[in-house]
Amino acid sequence: MNRTRTQVGIVGAGPAGLTLAHLLHRDGIDSVVVEDKSREYVEARVRAGVIEQGIVDLLTEAGAGERLVREGLVHHGIELQFDGERHRIPLSELAGGRAIVIYGQTELVKDLIRLRLDAGQPLHFEAADVSVHDLETERPLVRYRYEGSDEELDCDVIAGCDGFHGICRPSIPAGVLSEFSREYPFGWLGILAAVAPSNDELVYAHHERGFALLSLRSRERSRLYLQCRPDEDLAKWPDDRIWEELQTRLGIPGWRLAEGAILEKGVTGMRSYVCEPMRYGHLFLTGDAAHIVPPTGAKGLNLALHDVEVLADALVEWFRSGTTIGLDQYSDTCLRRVWRAEHFSWWMTRMLHRADDEDSFDLKLQLSQLRYVTTSHAAATSLAENYVGLETV
Ligand SMILES: Cc1cc2nc3c(=O)[nH]c(=O)nc-3n(C[C@H](O)[C@H](O)[C@H](O)COP(=O)(O)OP(=O)(O)OC[C@H]3O[C@@H](n4cnc5c(N)ncnc54)[C@H](O)[C@@H]3O)c2cc1C
Repeated sequence: MNRTRTQVGIVGAGPAGLTLAHLLHRDGIDSVVVEDKSREYVEARVRAGVIEQGIVDLLTEAGAGERLVREGLVHHGIELQFDGERHRIPLSELAGGRAIVIYGQTELVKDLIRLRLDAGQPLHFEAADVSVHDLETERPLVRYRYEGSDEELDCDVIAGCDGFHGICRPSIPAGVLSEFSREYPFGWLGILAAVAPSNDELVYAHHERGFALLSLRSRERSRLYLQCRPDEDLAKWPDDRIWEELQTRLGIPGWRLAEGAILEKGVTGMRSYVCEPMRYGHLFLTGDAAHIVPPTGAKGLNLALHDVEVLADALVEWFRSGTTIGLDQYSDTCLRRVWRAEHFSWWMTRMLHRADDEDSFDLKLQLSQLRYVTTSHAAATSLAENYVGLETV
């Protein structure tokens, strides 16, 4: 058994774990990142792509935003489509000049991994049988197998950044956490296509056949989604059928979606979930390990990075001065933003998706809500400030 000592043991090398490791390193705090997948797998995992202004600022100030600022596409608005017409929500105009930046989560993860390895800091991919122990004590442990050896990592604190299906949250004894969740009767069939985006801004389309989203990852890559069943069989969706359905749901007179080779496709179920508190003893949960939002509000990645910003500040304060105020407030501070994002994501989802059992009353309410947010300055402002990310919550 190899025994190692570090200040912060970080489980998971997703956006949350990697950003936390980077922020701590900048402040002279040691950490070891333990990830069960390979570097190739983690770098290729296509997921989010909308980054709030506040998170762009955080990454830039921390020296992790150089390529993000150079290659990211700044968007000042989004479009809502219903009844065959598009309506622009001018985000920046309504939200004090703030904007969103389109930059793939894959690219952000690649940047953070490179920074970590260039700094010569430990990042252990393909760690097997990862487990966490002694969480209620001042010396919590992470155990795992790495390159054929049994490893025991002795920590001051552990950051559970291992996503929704990780091992940290389930390691908390039964009865400690309160859990709040909602399942949705639909999912998203998402594709990444080698074709330039057909619109300058994202289009959120309400359609009688179900929701569709036109998004992008770069000037050359489109990201497109179709509402589907949560257990949709991808085998029933050859590329031609996907394009045909996207054309139908996103189509408006005089406009056609450009098609290209599909590089990646997958089905994601949709769920809202929060556990409280986001801490047990010396284990702190961050990002998807503690909460999940349906992707309609583009909040998952942003929330994960807001959590680690709060946690990094609290840890720096604790290691420097011994004060536990920040750590004691960590969960409550994060949960205020989490619940705002939960509500916004649920609200956007309800407004835009068609449910199988939806009666005409619900449909009329959706259309009324869409008309309201596209005609009322107050309603559009509310959408805009939530979408670009609230400065305070
Ligand atoms: C399939 C999918 C599609 C998504 N699409 C979108 C989207 O289109 N738009 C959007 O806004 N958001 C999307 N999201 C949400 C967004 O990507 C997440 O909110 C974001 O990745 C959260 O970051 P995280 O670091 O908290 O968790 P994750 O990115 O899940 O990272 C957790 C890391 O921990 C690792 N891990 C797990 N278990 C262990 C273990 N036992 N030991 C060690 N390591 C472990 C995982 O391999 C992973 O690398 C999507 C999420 C998923 C799952």
